[in-house]
Amino acid sequence: MTVKAREVLNNMKAYPLNKSIEEVQAELGFEKAYKLAENENIFGCSPKIKANLSTHLNELFTYPDGHARQLTSKLAQFHQLHFHSIFIGNGSDEIIRLLCRAFICNDDEAVMADVTFPRYKTNVLIEGGKPIIVPLQNGVHDLSSMLRAITSKTKLVFICNPNNPTGTIINKQQLLEFIDQVPNDCLVVLDEAYYEYADNEQLLQSVPLLHKYPNLVILRTFSKAYGLAALRIGYGMMSPIYVDELTKVKDVFNVNQLGQIAASLALEDQQFINDCVTKNKTGKEYLEKELTVLNYDFYPSQANFIMIHTKRRGDYAANSLLKHGFIVRAGTLLGLPYTIRVTISSMEDNIHFINTFKNLAAEGEV
Ligand SMILES: *Cc1c(COP(=O)(O)O)cnc(C)c1O
Repeated sequence: MTVKAREVLNNMKAYPLNKSIEEVQAELGFEKAYKLAENENIFGCSPKIKANLSTHLNELFTYPDGHARQLTSKLAQFHQLHFHSIFIGNGSDEIIRLLCRAFICNDDEAVMADVTFPRYKTNVLIEGGKPIIVPLQNGVHDLSSMLRAITSKTKLVFICNPNNPTGTIINKQQLLEFIDQVPNDCLVVLDEAYYEYADNEQLLQSVPLLHKYPNLVILRTFSKAYGLAALRIGYGMMSPIYVDELTKVKDVFNVNQLGQIAASLALEDQQFINDCVTKNKTGKEYLEKELTVLNYDFYPSQANFIMIHTKRRGDYAANSLLKHGFIVRAGTLLGLPYTIRVTISSMEDNIHFINTFKNLAAEGEV
């Protein structure tokens, strides 16, 4: 006899993590493996952070600031928002969980796209809610269907913009009209994890809308363009009323101190972000051009990854690439069976990737 976990966990699987660089190197005997699976910033983080963090190593015995006051006030200033409109999380992943914790129970509904970031669905299910899934249209959120899916039971609607895993963004006028039409008793959770990479002419500028739409929640992270995934810092911008609710359900010391310090410093170095965004754009254009030559289709990406339509199943294609030291995400796991998602890397690695992909394409292996 074993102790039974909650029923909802019966049909649930843990998030499928990719193999690590070390595993691939050890199992396949590569000197170097390329991890293009988690959309990390290959260029690292601002060089100003490293030296500063080492001066804080004598403080590891103290608990972090449970309110992350310094980082909160830096972010408030950066976004021209009130201090109480910012909530810092242990990654934006935690904030997704806390939003579900605070707002979802007993068959409450949450509307989201299929395919999108899988953490929305998982956390809604864990809290006993009902995910209402609306298929993408050509890789883009189908906002009119999502709007129609909202009922009096809907507490949250998740919009991932740019969308992970497709990299697509939503037409800004359409998104604005959508936000305008969502009833006030339903939160619009706009996950902008890849905000920095998107063309800011084309992407809806959401932060100024917070003043007009009290049910708008914007999520950003330091894990992607800021290159601090290891330190787990994300943040939400929302009405102070909702910050208060999230604060009630969070762990007391949810955000580690080195992360708080690093994120504050990272925010000050916007030149680093601009450089990374420029390099990413060059890399993306290169990959798009080469894939077109090879006759492979892809979703138009506004992020630091690209989702490629493969001729073999995504898991097969991913495995072919793995044999050559490239760890990519198979869309098969995510619900897009004939795709792989590849993180855009340094130019050297992008070229190496394309050369490998080209050879595998010639052999019918991707
Ligand atoms: C990576 C990612 C996150 C999570 O980022 P963390 O801040 O590292 O938890 C959230 N949303 C999307 C869409 C992501 O791709």
